[in-house]
Amino acid sequence: RTAVVLFTRDLRVHDNPALAAACANADRVVPLFVLDPALSELSANRSRFLHQALADLRDTLRGRGGDLVLRSGDPVAEAIKLCGEVGATMLGVAADVTTYAKKRETRLQAECDRQRIALRFFPGVTVVDPGSLRPGGGGPAYRVFTPYYRVWQSADWRDEVAAPHTITLPDGIAAGRLPATPDGESPDAATGGETEGRRRLTAWLSAIDGYGDGHDDLPGDVTSRLSPYLRFGCVSPLAVADAARTRNADPFVRQLCWRDFYYQVVQAFPQISARAYRPNADDEWRDDPEALKHWQDGLTGVPIVDAGMRQLRAEGWMHNRARLITAAFLTKHLGVDWRLGVQWFFRWLLDGDVPNNSGNWQWVAGTGNDSRPYRRFNPIRQAHRFDPEGVYVRRYIPELKAIEGSAVHEPWRLPAAVRDGLDYPGPLESHRDEAVWLRP
Ligand code: FAD
Repeated sequence: RTAVVLFTRDLRVHDNPALAAACANADRVVPLFVLDPALSELSANRSRFLHQALADLRDTLRGRGGDLVLRSGDPVAEAIKLCGEVGATMLGVAADVTTYAKKRETRLQAECDRQRIALRFFPGVTVVDPGSLRPGGGGPAYRVFTPYYRVWQSADWRDEVAAPHTITLPDGIAAGRLPATPDGESPDAATGGETEGRRRLTAWLSAIDGYGDGHDDLPGDVTSRLSPYLRFGCVSPLAVADAARTRNADPFVRQLCWRDFYYQVVQAFPQISARAYRPNADDEWRDDPEALKHWQDGLTGVPIVDAGMRQLRAEGWMHNRARLITAAFLTKHLGVDWRLGVQWFFRWLLDGDVPNNSGNWQWVAGTGNDSRPYRRFNPIRQAHRFDPEGVYVRRYIPELKAIEGSAVHEPWRLPAAVRDGLDYPGPLESHRDEAVWLRP
């Protein structure tokens, strides 16, 4: 018997249920990745990361006797075609939640039914399957995090599956060429792939104890930075959560639950990626291309905001605390539509994905399914609290390097002679709130 495994965003061999089941149930296994033209809409940063992850996966599979077969085109048509070529009667794929993935799954099911191929969907994109936990009061998904976290923690997590030692390919299969890795836009972006993801996970587990106290510390930068590897499935979310749980790293496990939370929200309410969950919450946004541009360029004149935006460009990643501050600044201070923020983040973030990006933006903008839509973030108070000496700001804004200590957070308070010598703009007007933090 021959099985095809269609890889999507599970680019790993460790704890990959689709691959493990194929190896257990078939004599010959064909790992496949289809370069979908829709992927070219990915940002340059994520495209680069994806290509690196594919090259790494191919090397790993080759090391186990297999290969990664690459095709270009429509993933459904290509998967079915390959099944025909190799006489596969089984096709395995990781189940996903976005509208795009769901459509692909529906079409795949219809084609497999027609061709009498046994199609199976496998877990692996989240810790707990989206949709497997239902709120007591009814409804397709939890809308509020805390009750979800409670049941998620005590749910039965599946057992991790071992990586197959050997993979036997059918004879004479042409694996196809992997196109050259495209350039990304961010000079300091992380390198994609399971090998790098596992290396980071191992290093992270020895540092995890510092997460509870340090995860909001902007200059300390002590979070795991595993998000791009989770995004592309280079590491298994369950394996990360299991490893963290055995180390009693509850605050970190809780963050992984946020990821699962948004996946089950998007599966049940796919519209949250494009419009406010709360009725009429999108009615009040201002059109202000100039303010948006200042924000995108890290030139709002509010150093903590600009530092975050510049980190995003330089690394294709931004610290979570800075994401909160910059997103709140765009939506609550400038009054600009959160969806423009989603688009900008989506262009740069290596970890950019629909559930986490839109879910978090809606949470900050107060348009989502959260119970406290009018939450405020005062950027200056946040700056003093999470970057007390201004180290994070100076790291990303060279124009302010000469300003020592926390004074760097409020350049408008510096003596005029100093301020006038800085090649840095004055603060952008706030449109929604009174900018109380600007008053002397
Ligand atoms: P750690 O602090 O080490 O956390 C471990 C893992 O938990 C992360 O890798 C991530 O998978 C998950 N996680 C942590 N915080 C969150 C959260 N708030 N929501 C969901 N999952 C979380 N995360 C993305 O993966 N993709 C996005 O597109 C994305 N967009 C965001 C947009 C905004 C406006 C905000 C406020 C947050 C966004 N996040 C997104 C969530 C969070 O900022 C990142 O997951 C986190 O900063 C990644 O860094 P880390 O791996 O070091 O996180």
